[in-house]
Amino acid sequence: MSSEKKFHAIDFHVHVDERVKYQYIPSVLRARGLDGAGLVTHNDFTFAKKITEKFKKIDKEMVYFAGVEIDTADGHLLAYGIDEEIPANRSSEETIELIREFGGVSIIPHPFMSHNSIGWKSYKLNADGMEFYNGFAKFFLNFPNIMAKVAFKHNGFSRIGGSDAHYVNAIGSCYSLVEIEGEVTEAKILEAVLKNRTEAKKKPMDRYDITNFFKIIFTPKEGRKVVRFLDYY
Ligand SMILES: [Zn+2]
Ligand SMILES: [Zn+2]
Repeated sequence: MSSEKKFHAIDFHVHVDERVKYQYIPSVLRARGLDGAGLVTHNDFTFAKKITEKFKKIDKEMVYFAGVEIDTADGHLLAYGIDEEIPANRSSEETIELIREFGGVSIIPHPFMSHNSIGWKSYKLNADGMEFYNGFAKFFLNFPNIMAKVAFKHNGFSRIGGSDAHYVNAIGSCYSLVEIEGEVTEAKILEAVLKNRTEAKKKPMDRYDITNFFKIIFTPKEGRKVVRFLDYY
């Protein structure tokens, strides 16, 4: 195994809840030139973990790791590298501390996407990373992403890109370049976030971004867990 340092393309924010046809994830990752994905759900880490374990078994060429997008009292927060559920509706400070206590990594997604985002409060938070490129925010002429980059330029957050794909073909519309030595593993990806060895990237807007946008806005919160595709594997 080479010990050379290399950048690997990882989409940290791929949803496997709601109506996502996640059986196509391996082929989309390849088509988009990615090396791996963080598979997340809203407030249901156990489910994300279950799906991630299945992908790890069937597709060993890619790196899959599980995460959860938690509804904190202040807005969404992503957590990775944990082993248990993080309770929803607590303050963002408390949630970040809890994630750290559990040995995990916290990332503030889409800081400026209205009601479900932490926004300016991020200034006071010591999360490990922030999404400087989010696929959903890209839809608004990329304005919320530009704002995030300008507002939090000096806060020391690792720069993360995530597609926020709720539609399988939108995977990779935003992604991160993660600097890793040798073999790519979940532990090394998360360590790179902690050590600021990531860059946020985005692809030009395409029709998949548009479909993803409508999937997100037209899926009612209660409908998130209705349709799942557990039987595909
Ligand atoms: Zn979100
Ligand atoms: Zn999301």
